[in-house]
Amino acid sequence: MLLATDLDGTFLAGDNEQRLKLYQLIAAHPEIKLAFVTGRGLESVLPLLSDPTIPEPDYIICDVGCTVVDGHTQQAIQPLQGDIDKFWPGDHVVEQAVAHIPNLQRQDVPQERRFSFFCDAAAISDELEEAVRGLDCDLLYSAGLYLDILPKGVNKGSTLRGLVKLLGLSDEDVLVAGDTLNDLSMYEHGFIGVCVGESEPALLQGTENRARVFHADEPGCGGILQAFEHFGFLGTAGMEAEQRDVAVPGKSDLVIVYHRLPYEELRENGVTIRRKPTSPNGIIPTLMSFFADGRAGSWVAWSVHEPEDGKFETHTEVDVAQYPNLVASRVALSKSDVDVFYKKFSKEAFWPTLHTFWERATFREDHWEIFLDVNRRFAEAAAVEAAEGATVWIHDYNLWMVPAFLRELRPDVVIAFFHHTYFPSADVFNVIPWRRDIIGSLLQCDYIGFHIPRQSENFVDVARGVTPLEVTAEMNCAPRFFTYGCAVGLDEMSTEIKVNDRLIRLGAHPVGLDLKRVESALQDVKVQQRMEELRQELHSTRMILSVGRLDYTKGILEQLEAYERLLDEYPDLHDKVTLMMVCVPAASEMTIYRDLQSQIEQAVGRINGRFAKVGWTPLQFFFRSLPFAELVAYYSMADVMWITPLRDGLNLVAKEYIATQGMTDGAGVLVLSEFAGAAAELRGPILANPHDRTELVKTCYLALTLKRDEARSRMREAYEVVRHNDIKVWSDEFMSAVEASRSGAADLSEDIPTKVA
Ligand code: UDP
Repeated sequence: MLLATDLDGTFLAGDNEQRLKLYQLIAAHPEIKLAFVTGRGLESVLPLLSDPTIPEPDYIICDVGCTVVDGHTQQAIQPLQGDIDKFWPGDHVVEQAVAHIPNLQRQDVPQERRFSFFCDAAAISDELEEAVRGLDCDLLYSAGLYLDILPKGVNKGSTLRGLVKLLGLSDEDVLVAGDTLNDLSMYEHGFIGVCVGESEPALLQGTENRARVFHADEPGCGGILQAFEHFGFLGTAGMEAEQRDVAVPGKSDLVIVYHRLPYEELRENGVTIRRKPTSPNGIIPTLMSFFADGRAGSWVAWSVHEPEDGKFETHTEVDVAQYPNLVASRVALSKSDVDVFYKKFSKEAFWPTLHTFWERATFREDHWEIFLDVNRRFAEAAAVEAAEGATVWIHDYNLWMVPAFLRELRPDVVIAFFHHTYFPSADVFNVIPWRRDIIGSLLQCDYIGFHIPRQSENFVDVARGVTPLEVTAEMNCAPRFFTYGCAVGLDEMSTEIKVNDRLIRLGAHPVGLDLKRVESALQDVKVQQRMEELRQELHSTRMILSVGRLDYTKGILEQLEAYERLLDEYPDLHDKVTLMMVCVPAASEMTIYRDLQSQIEQAVGRINGRFAKVGWTPLQFFFRSLPFAELVAYYSMADVMWITPLRDGLNLVAKEYIATQGMTDGAGVLVLSEFAGAAAELRGPILANPHDRTELVKTCYLALTLKRDEARSRMREAYEVVRHNDIKVWSDEFMSAVEASRSGAADLSEDIPTKVA
């Protein structure tokens, strides 16, 4: 069975309810093959292929029949395509032949093997007809506007006829659907057909006396559904199996979908023990503080589970005392799923590309399949947790494909997405083989937040390369964000885009700190003791502190080389400074970091080997994660905080340092990479370009020698930002922006029925 359908006005038209019904019906019946038969050029069909709500066609006949490709590979179907090509004299030949004819306006849209214009009926002169005859081509005029010069004998119907023959289908098994005169040829080959409601009168007239053509009342997909019934295309049973089950709404008004659980799980003597997360990630506590007010919610995350572990608990409490109404909904993943999904694929394919290190990325189709499967399972879990109209807040690139799956299961929910990592421009992002799928999924969101305007605008840049989009609202980035003052600054950002009549709102929300965490660390007696010890240990030595994960994006090697040069160029610093470098190791499965680790170890050895003296260690390297409280002790003692990633989504460490110094009225100096997201938000740090070794050395020296007054006033300015834009402001701003996007979402959900399984 083949449904051969025109797109605009037909398969893409009709109300949302009927579109969804038809699309689900097609998805539920793999025996229905789908052919798009359209006047659009192939390039203009591609955006539809990235829209997860539209079924993927098996065949695409486009350019009014002049192009015919396989829908899955987009490769030409031969020998059909070759036969068409023989009849096309060539674009330039056609252009010259009609150049003298007035009142034709060339359509500046993608097209191949045809020449198309906009014109009035009056412009179709004898002169034009003669010129076209001279080319041995055909003329086709439709909808009182579109004029096509086509290869002789080629039209939608002739190409469809060729395809049906090639596939060996019988004419009774082909249903054609259209709405304008350029569809007429499809009805002239003996297939069964439908002219959907609101079809062009000339098409209705042209098909009036054809017994196998049905004129439907409903426009678009509604008309195709009527035709299915009229012709018994699927039989009654087939029509009944029309809708896929959608999830029964759950109870949570807010569902967080994050790759990791809000607690750590340990297996001890065969029993699973839960404890507060200790890993170096400031995000989890930040997100948990959302539920401190008793809000009812779910946190969907993975949990490692092997069949031999016995029964799997899909739901657990999180922390009844602090977050009484928060439950964890666990997605069971095997250890090997986690290894591929998180430790390998995400880190090997997406992480490098997102941070503009695309040449380090490796892409594997089998890993992508696992990634898709894991994302689908996250979406299914979220779909059963979310109450009617709930907000589902999905986090980060590991879960890029969740919106696509979730939108199908729960058209009613508001999907919000926060991108925690850097987001590059199209030149880099487009390296990803699955970019269309990823962007198509993200465009199912109602709201997407990034840390800073530059990242959001880069997303728009990438999306624009995947699908036509209209920017429907913009805003100035100043004064909240840097405009021209740093590498990741921007003057204006898009705050709303329209894609296929859906509105997607965008916003910049740099993550803030839970200041109480810093405050309580400072009050902790043990931390105060550690500060005192450090004070003794350091004597008159000035401390430069560097804290970051082992990752090439963090610019650790570059920093080490700069430090070596600093000591070379400023011997006056010998004995007087020490660099404390805290480098948090990566999980051992993340093999991508092994080389970097050994290069760092060599550099550390080299520097200490070259400069150390009795009583002075120029570089203290901690290759481990420190508890947050201990880190705060270091923050408070550091004269210079050296944070110079080559690229970073935000950088919380920089903000934690500012908070610590700000709370203790310190005069520490932050040297911050102008490629870290935080650089676009903070005022006061000394900005440095980490790709410029000379500047790294100079700015570090400047920080070491800065007058205390200036240091203190810079710090106050920075603390002002960190103190004000704390985690509460971040969450409130994000959530109110999501709420504001509800109006757009409501329009869609009102029309779409949710059938309960
Ligand atoms: N961190 C920690 N112990 C360490 C090093 C870092 O607890 O030894 C924490 C740090 O306090 C911060 C987080 O890890 O909250 C790192 O966040 P950031 O945004 O700076 O970098 P990311 O690792 O997310 O790229």
